Parts: sequence; C-alpha cells; structure tokens
Amino acid sequence: MKKRIYIADLRKYLGGEVEIYARVNTRRDQGKMVFFDFADSTGPVQGIVLPQSAAMKDAKKIRENFLVLVKGNVNERPENNKNLNVPNGDIELEIAEICILNTSETTPFPLGDTSDINESARLKYRYLDLRSERMKKNVKNRFRVQQFIRNYLANEDFIEIETPLLSAPTPEGARSFVVPSRLDAGKFYALPQSPQQYKQLLMVADFEKYFQFARCLRDEDSRGDRQPEFTQMDLEMAFVSEEDVMRLNEELLIALVEELYPEKKIQEIPFPKMTYHDVMERYGTDRPDVRKDKSDDDLLAFLWVTDFPMFERVADDNNVDDAKDWTFTHNPFSKPKDAHVADFMSGKNIENILSTQYDIVLNGFEIGGGSIRNHKPDMLRKTFEIMGYDQKRIEENFGHMLEALSFGAPPHGGIAWGFDRLLMILEKEKSIREVIPFAKTGEGKDVMLNAPDVITEKQRAELMITVSNPITQP
Ligand code: ASP
Repeated sequence: MKKRIYIADLRKYLGGEVEIYARVNTRRDQGKMVFFDFADSTGPVQGIVLPQSAAMKDAKKIRENFLVLVKGNVNERPENNKNLNVPNGDIELEIAEICILNTSETTPFPLGDTSDINESARLKYRYLDLRSERMKKNVKNRFRVQQFIRNYLANEDFIEIETPLLSAPTPEGARSFVVPSRLDAGKFYALPQSPQQYKQLLMVADFEKYFQFARCLRDEDSRGDRQPEFTQMDLEMAFVSEEDVMRLNEELLIALVEELYPEKKIQEIPFPKMTYHDVMERYGTDRPDVRKDKSDDDLLAFLWVTDFPMFERVADDNNVDDAKDWTFTHNPFSKPKDAHVADFMSGKNIENILSTQYDIVLNGFEIGGGSIRNHKPDMLRKTFEIMGYDQKRIEENFGHMLEALSFGAPPHGGIAWGFDRLLMILEKEKSIREVIPFAKTGEGKDVMLNAPDVITEKQRAELMITVSNPITQP
C-alpha cells in the first residue's frame, strides 16, 4: 500500500501528482468550474475542477461534509488568488479524479465556530460539534496539557496509578452516585468523588510520589464550572510539608504556562499567599479574582489561600450526617496545623483550629486544593469524634483507613486540581463543557446517548430494585 499523503505535506509535491483523503468543508460551484475546500486532520487545501475536466461530472454530485478520495496535481495558485494568511493558501489541487468515500446528511448546524449554537443541539451532535476548529483545538490542547504534566511529573519520579471507579463512598462533602450490585443484590457501590482514600493507601504502600488524571463523580447540581463527572489531576507525596506540595505545584504550573501558553503572563511569581482570614476580610470570598487588569484575558493571577478553619458548624436541619455540631470544611483526612494539634487532640477551641488545607485560586476560580493528612490513626479518629460520630460509626465507615494508618503510614500530603477548570481558563472558555470532549448538559444529562435512562424489568429484577417513580418503566 502506498504511504498516505497528508494535506500539510502537499507543498513538498508541488508540480507532482498526489492522492489525498479529505472531508469537503465547502463547495463553490461556479458552473464551468467547481471549487472545494478540503481538509484532513493536518490542515486545509483548496481544490479546483477546471472546465472540461473528466472529474466534472463527479464533482457536481459532491456536497459539503462528504468524504472523498482525490487525485490531482499540486499547483501554485495564480498570484492574484494567493492567500498567504491560511495554510496552503499559495497552492491548490487541480482535481483529476474525485471519488466519494461517503456521503453526508446536511449537518443540523454549521460547523464553523459553534459557540453561539444552542448548547443541547451541540451536545446531542457532539461528534459534529467536535469537528469545528475551536472544539478540535480545545480537545487537542487538553491532550497536550495532560501530556506535559505527565512528562513533568514522571521526571520528578512520580508514577501514575489508576484507582477503582466501583468503590465505597468517600466523604468529599457531596452526594455520591451509586451503582447497584447484581451479585450482591440489594447492595451498592459508590462512584468515587475523588481518589482520596486510595491515594492515601498508596502512601501506606510506599509509593512515595503518586499522581493520576482521575475521573471524579459527584451528584451535585451542575453549574458553569461544575459537571457531575469531571477530571482531577490528583497527586500525593510522602514526607512533605505544606510548602513542599505548594512549591512543586507552583513550579509545574509556571512551567506549563511558559511552555504551552507563552502568550500569557503570570501576574506574580512566586504566587502570592493569603490566609483564609485575610482573604475573607479583604475580598469577602475565598477565591478572589486578584488580576490587576481584568480586560486582559492573557493575564493569569494565581493565589494560594491557606490556614482554613478545620471545622465549621452544621445547621441542625441539614445535618444529613447526624453529626452533632461540627463538620469538616474541606477534607476529613486533613491534619490541623502544628500549633493547633494540642487543641485538636483535646477537642478544645474547635472553631479556632486551623487546618493544613491550601487552595490554589486562578482568576477567581478555585482550581485546586489539598492538605497534609492525619497519618496517625488516633488523630484521624479525633476528627470524626469532634464531628460527633460514635466509635461504632467510625469503625464502620473508616475502620479500614484507621487500620491502614496503623501499619506505619508515612507522613504525607497532596493536592488535586480541577483539571477542566484550569483548562477552561487557559483556553479562555466560559464553561468547562467547552473543554470536556463529551460533556453533559447543565442538567447532567447525556443527550447524545440518552442517559440517564430507564432499565428493563429483567434488569430491575436481577438487581432487586423496585422503582416507585411514576414515569413509565419498560
Ligand atoms: N481529594 C480532595 C478533593 O477532591 C483533594 C485533596 O485533598 O487532595 O477535594
């Protein structure tokens, strides 16, 4: 088989005959001549069918979005037809033969810049939306950013380790999605809100530097920067302080921007740090947009927020966890700051206990957060005691963690980035759905494959599930 010639390489064949596989982006029929804009994954080229060409009859049958195999000559365009602002704008393909590989229906919306098209139509036909240049760029850049981070962390001796999706509930402060078990009918898995427990268990297993692009699932209401299913860049390290984790992440973010987004400017390096107390007093929010010039969307203002309160009061009426008074603010596995350990262990001054939690904020969005963890069982137990859990409940829910920590767990800490959010800002998009290849709608639906959906009576019987929802069940 001949080696395929890609459109980006056509210049090398100037004056010669080539064969390309392409999609027809536009077709301009001028009667005697027909012009096409073709493209493959490497770029565009103009095609032309000259009067009297043997290809004319076939050319007339071709419509936009058809896939074609084209044989032709690569010619330099006449001087007055050159367009030096587009790739291959100085050449064209004089078509000798054009053969239809597949036809196409008219697409439900034009595939130029689709940002103004109705979003549910775009999501229903995401595979067409993804053909558009902007979406293609977003998906490709998502891959490039991931690839950069993977290489960077691999160089720092991190290894990427996958953790399960069918799991038990992790308390991240949101509702979990659950999956019914058939083999153990009546019981449920929970989909992980984050790999938090697994990554800590990897520390016990002596993987000193772990990371993962991890899919996380939280059953919350969707918003512009939230989806029920999203991706974290999750990492954990043994024998580190807050400063160590922050430094590594800061260096990685700077390197990433310099390498992949050189047109952007980071407002302040090293990233400024503010305590939760100061940031609330000054801005009234713990994720302030500290850009000095908000009209410049190539300006990146990173900010670390530290010293969060470890616990907050829970109002009685939404006290879903039947804890008495207190709940954790971020992560029940976080360690208090050293100066507060004594109060923490004796359960005093609870409202003043500060945690080692650190958040990273970018242009007004929280793009990540983490902490140093309680690596000793008695300290982790204390968190749940302060939250009012009795020993039975602590054992039932967290016995496995307490036991794991009892086998010489190293001191450790980590962070997770909201990867989609970071990418949304870097790509100057308004919603994370623009940078998630197959996003759900604002209501958390997959309108392309139609999920969620009802299941059959047979499936329900196997799972021992009775649905009381009056919508029609098959
Ligand atoms: N698991 C935490 C979260 O998802 C992040 C961390 O503390 O590493 O928010």
